[in-house]
Amino acid sequence: MDRILSSTSLTFKSGLTRNLVKDFKKINVSEIEADFRKLGTNANFLNSKSLSGSITIICDVLNDISGKYHLPLDYQPRMIRVFKKEEGIEKFQNNLFGFCNVDTKKVLKNELPFVAGTIFLRKMFFDSVIFQDLVTTYENFRKSLSSSHFLAIPLHEWFHSIHLDLIYKKYGYEGNCPIMKQIYHKPCSCGLKKIEELDKCNISKSDKFYLNNFLGTYSVNQSSLLEIFAEFMTKITTKSLDEDLNIIKNPLDNIPKDFPVNLKKFLEETLDV
Ligand SMILES: [Zn+2]
Repeated sequence: MDRILSSTSLTFKSGLTRNLVKDFKKINVSEIEADFRKLGTNANFLNSKSLSGSITIICDVLNDISGKYHLPLDYQPRMIRVFKKEEGIEKFQNNLFGFCNVDTKKVLKNELPFVAGTIFLRKMFFDSVIFQDLVTTYENFRKSLSSSHFLAIPLHEWFHSIHLDLIYKKYGYEGNCPIMKQIYHKPCSCGLKKIEELDKCNISKSDKFYLNNFLGTYSVNQSSLLEIFAEFMTKITTKSLDEDLNIIKNPLDNIPKDFPVNLKKFLEETLDV
């Protein structure tokens, strides 16, 4: 069971402590952006201390898992962009709190297209969740998600970015973006087609029932193996963290014994384990 602090204490988020909130408040966002640049990630956190702090923890956690358990998670997204709702072009002016673009595309009104796999996170939502006690806002989201951990939402988007990278590395990229074509060059490429198939999959009634209980309703309602992968990885990763946000077990050890065989196979093939 995830630890959720009661609404009468500082926050209501599992994994978040008073000390961490204090640490977040001291963050110098430009320094974190410079550190990410050295790792090959062009990050613009829009001066969000909560998100730059959360993303730094995520990066450390995934590198740690990768080193300890040899899972292909030591990946750096090419871009991370914290944005305000009004910056988005029309179709991105909805209430999404985060997303990851499958192909290179125009997302924000005054900026060039963003390369595929960019992680977008909405500033307002996270700053309010971490620094204020907006119980209702968060609880509404939490009911449909796989984890109530405060890292869950940025972690979910990071897993989308990892997943896309794994797919493009394996199948190549056949779209129009010259940068992506160069990075994922294959003579016969079908990564985008593969992604389209995963995004509209048929899930059996019994698997749906199982996943609704295990991952919450969000990913199942989307009927998308991209969403199921991101939610699943988010759940098993946050369940492997101790109170100090250290990884204390292999996330894959959190796969239940009765997990549907075909879905387990899909996850293992994706991670190549
Ligand atoms: Zn998603």
